[in-house]
Amino acid sequence: MLIVKKFGGTSVANKERIFNVAKRCIEDYKNGNQVVVVLSAMGKQTDVLLDMAKDINPKASRRELDMLLTTGEQTSVALMAMAMDSLGVPAVSMNAFQVQMHTTEVYGNARLKRIDTERIRNELDNRRIVVITGFQGVNKFDDYTTLGRGGSDTTAVALAAALHADACEIYTDVDGVFTADPRVVPNARKLDEITYDEMLELASLGAGVLHNRSVEMAKKYGVQLVVRSSLNTSEGTVVKEESKMEKMLVSGVATDKNVAQISVEGLENKPGVAFKLFQHLANHNINVDMILQSVEHGGTQDISFTVTRDQADTAMETLDRHANTSLKCEKTTVNANVAKVSIVGAGMMSNAGVAAKMFEALYDAGVNILQISTSEIRVSVLVEEKFVNEAAQAVHDAFALAN
Ligand code: ADP
Ligand code: ASP
Ligand code: MG
Repeated sequence: MLIVKKFGGTSVANKERIFNVAKRCIEDYKNGNQVVVVLSAMGKQTDVLLDMAKDINPKASRRELDMLLTTGEQTSVALMAMAMDSLGVPAVSMNAFQVQMHTTEVYGNARLKRIDTERIRNELDNRRIVVITGFQGVNKFDDYTTLGRGGSDTTAVALAAALHADACEIYTDVDGVFTADPRVVPNARKLDEITYDEMLELASLGAGVLHNRSVEMAKKYGVQLVVRSSLNTSEGTVVKEESKMEKMLVSGVATDKNVAQISVEGLENKPGVAFKLFQHLANHNINVDMILQSVEHGGTQDISFTVTRDQADTAMETLDRHANTSLKCEKTTVNANVAKVSIVGAGMMSNAGVAAKMFEALYDAGVNILQISTSEIRVSVLVEEKFVNEAAQAVHDAFALAN
């Protein structure tokens, strides 16, 4: 079997953990398998590097940031190969350049396009464990790029797809995918399995346990994933196309604090206004999420929407630049003290009353809803950030998701 095993930052945070991971990989190797290991930077090293950069130059270019960040993963793979070697097993570490992991040009948020597998295959055929840097790639200028925070999961899935691996295992600091982030909802329950679609929604809505693009890619290439703990041997969660379990009404709750709400007040009520507003934002690559348009009052209307917090300043600058010209609005405001709480479940599609039940739970908890958005298998609400954890807990209780 060819097995891809990915270990996150906490799983390789120190010498003891590195040896723990090395031993787990060696076990598979000694059972006759070919083993490819994908690693994240040790512990919180990516944050440490970002803080160092900010201290030197708060406006550092994304190219230089990526150049810096790739050192985090490079450190962990080299140390891991040394650890394996010291345990008597031949291993070789490789970075994105050595593998040739080609990505799009964009620094900080590149997408993997193509991976050369020749060198990896040669090393595996020579019975070595291959330890590869997660999170990084190389663009057409031969510069390093990174795949966005949490991107090592995507590296692992991409490698599993490119190598036609028999298994892709994502090892982390929790026992699998839970009905909610166990740090937010302490009585959250571990799921035995979950569909790609549900996992993709949860990941996109803030469940950081998997990078959302890794799930997108797993679905596209039919890579079955197992999410499990690096610290124990419990079974974990299988992420796959169809769940054999009955479609759950609600399979999980996700929270996301990386949200800001922007309101544009006093817009003219005529065709083309929303188009112009969102066109200006799109021109600056600003992704808009929840949108709310008010009814007309006194001849004008208001539009509120959400963006990620890091894009809020650019969005406001863009709107203010056009406020007196093409947009003609009276006032723009931003509120970064908001957060999103979402429920996801494939069974929702055929079941009325799910949203109402969520709203009732929030009402009972005394949490005000600022904005709502829905899709076939999800309902999201925007709430004040200070209420986000109790809102998630209340909704989790209402759908009886705990054991
Ligand atoms: P790694 O470094 O291994 O990639 P991450 O911190 O990226 O680990 O992801 C694991 C974390 O994801 C957990 O510690 C947990 O707090 C968080 N998390 C958020 N939502 C969920 C969920 N639904 N199930 C499990 N963990 C979740
Ligand atoms: N080290 C990177 C990060 O912290 C990538 C990852 O952990 O997946 O975001
Ligand atoms: Mg992660």
